[in-house]
Amino acid sequence: MKIFKDKHTLQKEILKTKGISFVPTMGGLHKGHISLIKKSKKFQFKTLVSIFVNPKQFNKKSDFRSYPRTTKTDLKKLKKLKINYLYIPSFKDIYGFKPKKKVFLDKFSEKLCGRFRRGHFEGVLNVVNRFLEIIKPKYIFLGKKDYQQLYLIKKHIEKRKIKSKIIECETIRENNGVAFSTRNSNLDKNQIKIASNIYYYLRKLKKKIKKNYNFFNLNKIKKDLKDLGVSKIDYLENYNTKNFKKIKRQGKKFNLFIAYYIKNVRLIDNI
Ligand code: AMP
Repeated sequence: MKIFKDKHTLQKEILKTKGISFVPTMGGLHKGHISLIKKSKKFQFKTLVSIFVNPKQFNKKSDFRSYPRTTKTDLKKLKKLKINYLYIPSFKDIYGFKPKKKVFLDKFSEKLCGRFRRGHFEGVLNVVNRFLEIIKPKYIFLGKKDYQQLYLIKKHIEKRKIKSKIIECETIRENNGVAFSTRNSNLDKNQIKIASNIYYYLRKLKKKIKKNYNFFNLNKIKKDLKDLGVSKIDYLENYNTKNFKKIKRQGKKFNLFIAYYIKNVRLIDNI
């Protein structure tokens, strides 16, 4: 595994290869990230993983500061996975140049997390646009755990005619149903149990709504979730994951999208 901290030395190296499969991360690596990396390794190109906690996508400085950083164990995990390249850029390496392409921010960025984390998706698209320009990957591996992010990156790539292809990866969960997330390390045992109960509640709810739309009763659902130990709910909405249209009657395909807090830890999921 070759490690790069500077884009020019990285570019010199990867220009020699036939193409790159790219897995962007913010570190704090868990089984969700690892599944993306393993998938990437099955493709014909060399795998490049990046670790960069992007300050521009955090709408609160305190959230950026408390975001878990585990570089030492991340390095061990990546070595074991035998990836080809690791890119750990500095802020200046990423933001010290003017990208050729302008960010395209689809209006769906105003929904869901965009309503509650002002500037978040501008920050995500900004950094992804820069990474795409530096690395020019053939493939980019993204998780459905962050479905809205995946959708917005897809729209940007389409609109700006970027030649990278997105590989969508399934959400990996613990045995108790909780989706792996770097932020889970901020939860104690009891709070993990709450997150698990919420997952099972939502799974059941989805089945009921599919049969009878009247079960999408937000007041009752919010009360149930509070009873299960949720401190605050940013949103609970249903969307068709292909076109991101809202579903208004039973029998249609949809996912439930949720962002909620257990104490001060914010979790997102879609089921
Ligand atoms: P992050 O480090 O949180 O920015 O995530 C890096 C990539 O891993 C993103 O494409 C995420 O969607 C993906 N990811 C995060 N958690 C999971 C998970 N539990 N299952 C699958 N992919 C995930």
